[in-house]
Amino acid sequence: MAGNFYKVACSDCENEQIVFGKASSVVNCAVCGTTLATPTGGNAEFHGEVVETVERRDTDGLEA
Ligand SMILES: [Zn+2]
Repeated sequence: MAGNFYKVACSDCENEQIVFGKASSVVNCAVCGTTLATPTGGNAEFHGEVVETVERRDTDGLEA
């Protein structure tokens, strides 16, 4: 089962970045380096505003 991705807006520079919902390591803003998400063991904790949820679906013909 694929996890969801989230588009998180950086609170410092307004960069929007796609972050995996179950990120296993700290995710930093690619522009200014501010921490956007930290792993918690389940869903990551986001430090910016989540502006969009990106649901990932496998459409390659394999039925789950
Ligand atoms: Zn930033």
